[in-house]
Amino acid sequence: MGEAVIFFGPPGAGKGTQASRLASERGYRKLSTGDILRDHVAHGSELGRQVKPILESGGLVPDQLVLALIREELSGGKAPKVIFDGFPRTLAQAQALDQLLSEKQVALKGVLLLVVPQRELLNRLVKRAQLEGRTDDNESVIQRRLEVYEKDTAPLADYYRGAGKLMQIDGTGTQDQVFARIQGALNGGVR
Ligand code: AMP
Repeated sequence: MGEAVIFFGPPGAGKGTQASRLASERGYRKLSTGDILRDHVAHGSELGRQVKPILESGGLVPDQLVLALIREELSGGKAPKVIFDGFPRTLAQAQALDQLLSEKQVALKGVLLLVVPQRELLNRLVKRAQLEGRTDDNESVIQRRLEVYEKDTAPLADYYRGAGKLMQIDGTGTQDQVFARIQGALNGGVR
């Protein structure tokens, strides 16, 4: 039986960083839909050309495209041990993922919601824009991404809370502190 962990939370909450660390320390494979999409854009694939304006505007890529990527990544025989970072982002994606995990006999261990106050998110995202030069990290696009999160993605917290899967993690403090909280939550299970 495979197992999956979902990293959930607004842009700038630290999902990517924490997901990478958990993946390397616990032998999971990290699947970041944002990274996969950016990779397509960088390589100028047909999908990349299609999604480039969406990424640059801070909107969401259509569910069907994202789900096709996830299906492709999870194809193959072996039951995976996988961390999802930045996926699912809509209710339709979450429902499709449930179905996919059950088909593949993968148990959802938990959905880690990283909680960070809005003001700190903005600071972090502006800093990241300067460091990494992501084209979707300028201030108006940052604002849009936070709005899209609130409208389309934040409601998923209720979906996973209802399923008894949500683990709320304080995402403030140092990266080590946040990681320790994540490990504590995963070791203790859903409370
Ligand atoms: P991220 O790196 O996770 O912040 O994703 C960067 C951008 O990729 C987002 O602003 C969306 O445009 C797109 N994206 C990433 N993951 C998804 C997803 N699960 N559903 C729709 N769009 C996504």
